[in-house]
Amino acid sequence: MSAPAETRIIFKHIDEEGYSNDIACYQKHGGYEILKKSVTQAPPDIRDEVKKSGLRGRGGAGFSCGLKWSFVDRKSGKPIYLVVNADESEPGTFKDRYIIHQDPHQLIEGTMISCFANDVKQAYIYIRGEFPEGARILEKAIQEARDAGFVGKNICGTDYSCDIFVHRGAGAYICGEETGLIESLEGKRANPRIKPPYFPAVLGLYQCPTIVNNVETLCHVKHIMDMGADEYLKIGTPNNTGTRIFCVSGHVKKPGYYEFPCGAVTLGTLLNDVCGGPLEGRTFKAVIPGGSSAKILRFGEKFTIKNKDGTTKEWTVEDIPMDFDSLAAAGTMGGSGGVIVMDDSVNMVDALANINAFYAHESCGQCTPCREGSLWMKKISTRMVHGEARPEDGELIKNVADQIAGRTICAFGEACSWPTQSFVAKFGDEFKTYATDKKAKPADSLELV
Ligand code: SF4
Repeated sequence: MSAPAETRIIFKHIDEEGYSNDIACYQKHGGYEILKKSVTQAPPDIRDEVKKSGLRGRGGAGFSCGLKWSFVDRKSGKPIYLVVNADESEPGTFKDRYIIHQDPHQLIEGTMISCFANDVKQAYIYIRGEFPEGARILEKAIQEARDAGFVGKNICGTDYSCDIFVHRGAGAYICGEETGLIESLEGKRANPRIKPPYFPAVLGLYQCPTIVNNVETLCHVKHIMDMGADEYLKIGTPNNTGTRIFCVSGHVKKPGYYEFPCGAVTLGTLLNDVCGGPLEGRTFKAVIPGGSSAKILRFGEKFTIKNKDGTTKEWTVEDIPMDFDSLAAAGTMGGSGGVIVMDDSVNMVDALANINAFYAHESCGQCTPCREGSLWMKKISTRMVHGEARPEDGELIKNVADQIAGRTICAFGEACSWPTQSFVAKFGDEFKTYATDKKAKPADSLELV
């Protein structure tokens, strides 16, 4: 079967020959025309349009962007801030970096429209510390936009003024959690805040109302204002509107980024037809469909899905449509759009040990269940791959994970326990036999702790 054609909105020009990331090229392709049009509209109308479009956040949680904006406290008399979350740290995700590198003005235009819609006078782009090139590109692009009157004072000749500043991250995964990000932006350690009371829409940056949106999400705002919410609603499925960028990595012939309307391709179509299928002589074994925090799916497993009319249907992994709701119905999540593929060469204990080492390293340490639990999950799985596995280790490590989720300040608790819970639930057989499997070898990259 031939691969279905992508529907590129965000990545429309990004790979075209000669397309560069400077403002002249962007404007030649119609850049900043939507901003010019938007600043002549009433800000509440823009907010209504975004809400009507059904746009859901592309950073991980998939929360409604319009609803998030509607929570902003506009009566406090305090300044409202907008923070672009460009701290793309979720393993398996690499779309925001690509947007920033190849098309920074698209992000700046979406950001400025969103700032205008929300009466924001100062915005920050919080970019991951490990993206120095992205920070340099953004600084240059913002200055170009400032010089052209699209950022800074009297935007597009109006009396609306708003500036954007780039802030480089502090090199930790937790800086991507919105309240941790705000703490870091304030110059502190990125310890996530307790909600309530610290909902960013009310008490965010400098205790002021703050909107935190992902890079890809803000790019969509530009296109919603271009085509209008009614047209945008026609892309994707109800409740899963617009396109999504999937970052596919791991054991497929053609890894990379692909943009499709939400729900337009199934996981099977994406991996087999779009990404060329498994490597020669291999078969697919497992896939994590939404960044490392999403629950793993095992090829061959079946899901019974309840339809709205009460009837049921059965899906295999290949049948799952790639949208927020379908992936949730299959017990996992679309998350950040990072699709990590593993073939039959992968030992699942080794793979989980790697993931556990990552989360133990990245826990901020505020909550005991997360700090201690992530460390113990790492200790047990690392011991296993160092040749000291016991048949009961799978159950033991899952038991630790069960004590974390739902008992922590931020969603990192779930993010670190879901991989362990799902790996053991789906591949419990491998965890049981690991102790006696002569083929199991210590993973070189993991230090025993
Ligand atoms: Fe920190 Fe983990 Fe608690 Fe989040 S859940 S605040 S990362 S210790």
